[in-house]
Amino acid sequence: MEKIGEKIKRIRKENEWSQTAILPRQQSLVSQIEKGTIKNPGKEILEKIAENLEMNFEELIAQTDWDRNKEQKIDDAQYGFSRYNLSVELRKTGQIVTKMKAFPRYNEAGDVNKYDPETGHELITNCTYDDCGRNIEKSSQQYCMSCGEELMEVLDFAGVESSGMSIDTLKALNKNKFLRFHPRIDEFDFWYNRQSNDNELKKISKLKEELQKYMEEYASLAEDEYGGEPNAGDINNGGELNIRLGNCIWTETQEGYEIDLWPDQHSWGSIYISGTEYFKGTKSSHPHVKKWWSEHQKALLILEEVRRHLLEYRAQIESTPDYAENDKDGPDIAGLLKDIEDEPF
Ligand SMILES: [Zn+2]
Repeated sequence: MEKIGEKIKRIRKENEWSQTAILPRQQSLVSQIEKGTIKNPGKEILEKIAENLEMNFEELIAQTDWDRNKEQKIDDAQYGFSRYNLSVELRKTGQIVTKMKAFPRYNEAGDVNKYDPETGHELITNCTYDDCGRNIEKSSQQYCMSCGEELMEVLDFAGVESSGMSIDTLKALNKNKFLRFHPRIDEFDFWYNRQSNDNELKKISKLKEELQKYMEEYASLAEDEYGGEPNAGDINNGGELNIRLGNCIWTETQEGYEIDLWPDQHSWGSIYISGTEYFKGTKSSHPHVKKWWSEHQKALLILEEVRRHLLEYRAQIESTPDYAENDKDGPDIAGLLKDIEDEPF
């Protein structure tokens, strides 16, 4: 019995067809099937291939190891992206570059990598804006190549009922992300000047502390309807806790905090988010909860990473013998003078 990939390759070679010819624009997918990286491709893909090999599906799978019970749902995505996980780079120009972390779509055995191993969030493989659906093809890709939308920004609206918030409103709101806690480099000699590096480190560390405090404060605002602190019992019982989050207008009432208006609502009314929902963090199905945690966790991650990069530059500065020359405090003049004085003529 022939392997399905081998059969495809054999027939293709016999006819001197290219991989692109049997699946236009999906050359890499053909390659993966032929190599056996994808062992049991789905029927739909095989039907397309069969057509281009000028045969029908049944003829193609005849006398091969293809098993219709093990059909792999495949697409031609090369990478899965984590929307809640970033790689952060601090360039010598002071530019902070953030990108969604990318993971290969398949491992060597052809198994699909579905979740981010670092955060447990589902990886996305295509643009989720409206019904675009275009696959993500490069690990450095930040925008959809079909519709130009930013891939990281669009959150999944499945399961959201009450908010009625449009995706455009959410995207507009997301544009303000990190406004308060987004790090910025002010002293551009941070990578060779010890003093500037120190200043930047202090600034970033302070920002990180502030953000952590802010996040803790917000967590403590997950109060029950009598204004008390949330407790494990309330949360476990799914008790309705009134939460206030960023981007919403709220009032403090005798009963606690009441959210009066979500940004997309045009009439006054109250919407409560349960504490249970709030503490689901980025795994919540509520867009506000998800967005709030996503933004703040990402901001925290960026600050941590920028701090780590600054420390790396600092280690480089310290391992360079003449780094003191770049030190704003200047060389130790008194020490030098003393050395000269002590020197016998
Ligand atoms: Zn798109």
